[in-house]
Amino acid sequence: MERQSAALATDEAAFVAEVRAFLARALTDDLRAAGRDTIGVHAEIGACRTWHRRLFERGWIAPAWPMAWGGTEWTPRQRFLFDRECALNDAPVLFAGGLRSVGPLLIEMGTPAQQRRYLPAILSGDDLWCQGFSEPGAGSDLAAISTRAVRQGDQYVVDGSKIWTTGAHHSNRMFAIVRTRDGERRQQGLTFLLIDMDSPGLTVTPILGLAGDHEFNQVFFDAVRVPVANRVGEEDEGWSVAKRLMQLARANNTPAALVRRAHRRATLAVAAVDPDQAQDLRRRLAGLEIELLAFEQLELAALPSGRPGGADQTTPSMLKLVGSELHQRIAELSAEAAGPYAAAGWTALGRAGADVDVGAHAMVKHLAVRAATIYSGTSETQRNVIARQLLGA
Ligand SMILES: Cc1cc2nc3c(=O)[nH]c(=O)nc-3n(C[C@H](O)[C@H](O)[C@H](O)COP(=O)(O)OP(=O)(O)OC[C@H]3O[C@@H](n4cnc5c(N)ncnc54)[C@H](O)[C@@H]3O)c2cc1C
Repeated sequence: MERQSAALATDEAAFVAEVRAFLARALTDDLRAAGRDTIGVHAEIGACRTWHRRLFERGWIAPAWPMAWGGTEWTPRQRFLFDRECALNDAPVLFAGGLRSVGPLLIEMGTPAQQRRYLPAILSGDDLWCQGFSEPGAGSDLAAISTRAVRQGDQYVVDGSKIWTTGAHHSNRMFAIVRTRDGERRQQGLTFLLIDMDSPGLTVTPILGLAGDHEFNQVFFDAVRVPVANRVGEEDEGWSVAKRLMQLARANNTPAALVRRAHRRATLAVAAVDPDQAQDLRRRLAGLEIELLAFEQLELAALPSGRPGGADQTTPSMLKLVGSELHQRIAELSAEAAGPYAAAGWTALGRAGADVDVGAHAMVKHLAVRAATIYSGTSETQRNVIARQLLGA
């Protein structure tokens, strides 16, 4: 037994060494800078594309996909270690709706034609996917969506609007749920569609975030035609497809790596403070590091049992809740450490001295991370899920 764990440890060390050697070669200074300067949920899009391509060429772009579809089939622990090394080396955060969400869904539920058409382009990075779920009247209450699709022959005609669509302006594809029928229950009568973003009648309007950045959008559909062949699952059964997609996306996600990036920046911000004035900041930074280490262990323990298909909804909700709130507290500490420099606006970035740039970055990051307790289900929604599961309600 002891010999077996020693062998595993050596394998793991060899794996980490291989990852580090690759990162040392493949991450240029520009890519590292883009990774460090990430404001929202992904790095600047040019850096995302370049980094995507390098991982693709190395064969490491889809750690959670089966080998038959171009994945690595790494163990959860390998995925965790890989993401952690990427975070510690400032690799750009990928724009990964295709890799983490719709790709795994299509592997499981797509038709052979859909798999052939879409999966290779997700892997290569030629296709970028955005998520069309939320609407002006439907966020936490997602079943309230009203964007409608009416079937005409072998096409659906879609009218309505999606909102808060991250990266719609970078994407050439969208996966969406639309209403095809008014059922007795609102979850009935929804259909899951794959939509080309260059379809006539589809327009994308930017929405600026709290930090002044353009990451999300509103998308309008005016008689947009979508082939019936682009439907995933049965007509009117889209709710269960969307739920499955969310399960798969959560199982492919490792939020601790994102929080680790924020902690790395906070460490740099605190190190820049005059040591006489930094005692309280250092104490709090150390406390947050302990919480982060505990969170990493929690995530690691949850990854194997959090495999898609499990009935456990509590663990993903708990991870989302704890991770996003910890992320916010770390970003807040960075802004505090930057002191008056944090008052500099986003537009000062790159135009002033290094202190102002660091301070301005700390502030925009702090503002942008407020969104972490809203997207992918708000903290209140996560608490409701946990409470329902624990109380059996
Ligand atoms: C940065 C960012 C990126 C996003 N990207 C996408 C994307 O790419 N695609 C997409 O489809 N959506 C996206 N969203 C939308 C996101 O999923 C929704 O904002 C989220 O589901 C909340 O919905 P809402 O904004 O309509 O708020 P609401 O649902 O109106 O909630 C308002 C407040 O009421 C609380 N609340 C609501 N219902 C309850 C309840 N039953 N019990 C207790 N409290 C409740 C909420 O917690 C919240 O505090 C993104 C959001 C953000 C902030």
